[in-house]
Amino acid sequence: SVATPYCFITTDTIAAIYKKRSKWSHKGDFGKILLMAGSKGKMGAVVLSARACMRAGAGLLTVYAPGCGYTILQTAVPEAMVQLDPHEEELSAAPPLEGYDVLGAGPGMGSSQTTYVAFKEVLSRAEVPLVLDADALNLLAKHKELLALLPPNTILTPHPKEFERLVGPWQSGFERLEKQREFCRRWGVVLVLKGAHSSICNGDGTVYFNSTGNAGMATGGTGDVLTGVLAALLGQGYGAFDAAVLGVFLHGLAADLAARELGLESIIASDLVDYLPGAYRKIA
Ligand code: AMP
Ligand code: MG
Repeated sequence: SVATPYCFITTDTIAAIYKKRSKWSHKGDFGKILLMAGSKGKMGAVVLSARACMRAGAGLLTVYAPGCGYTILQTAVPEAMVQLDPHEEELSAAPPLEGYDVLGAGPGMGSSQTTYVAFKEVLSRAEVPLVLDADALNLLAKHKELLALLPPNTILTPHPKEFERLVGPWQSGFERLEKQREFCRRWGVVLVLKGAHSSICNGDGTVYFNSTGNAGMATGGTGDVLTGVLAALLGQGYGAFDAAVLGVFLHGLAADLAARELGLESIIASDLVDYLPGAYRKIA
């Protein structure tokens, strides 16, 4: 018999995925993560991603950013190390990748030709799980030859507009879902299509629908928070699909906890970072 390829994520789904920390664990167990992100005027996206990554349980985080990000990042996220690109305003070169377990890319990165060269170099050398969001997805859409470079266990997190840039327009929700499944099969990736009830699909065509989250998340920066959460979960050893399901659920749950106290209108992306601890306490 063939199992149904669709599932609505419940607390039981999450209980089966979540792993408790061992008493004997050390930071090396939770991943060395490199986050490649940022450009002048968009360093806030990197701060949100980096703070979310630390709050979601990352072992060690290094942010690779253009020069203008140095003081911002060292001040806003003291837990993260910062490695600077030679360019002051945008990413222009690939950082060394040795020693990292996970690579995240995209938030606030821009999609210029200069940054494309750096990103392509990273993709051609990357062998670890990736989380690609925002401008990393826009670069994949502009330069489709990059898709063949995606390593196994890669998670892509487009919102509908970014997904349309990757696969073209659709006529119905069903067609969109089929495009998502086809894309995942073809490229062997996990893809989170974000929105209300985000759908999470893997290369087998299995699709899970998220049950948490609310319209308070429809505000700038919430997607950058998700990127950080997913990088942290990959760092803690979750497989790409488990990381995506758990991360999307926690991210929405943080928003639901925030909404109780703040209301939908007043939620801002940093609140999701602040309510992540409450979300973890609910599932742990
Ligand atoms: P981005 O567009 O990249 O900033 O990502 C937006 C985030 O907010 C994604 O995680 C979406 O799933 C979530 N989101 C946006 N609008 C809604 C909504 N109406 N209901 C639930 N989640 C939403
Ligand atoms: Mg986004």
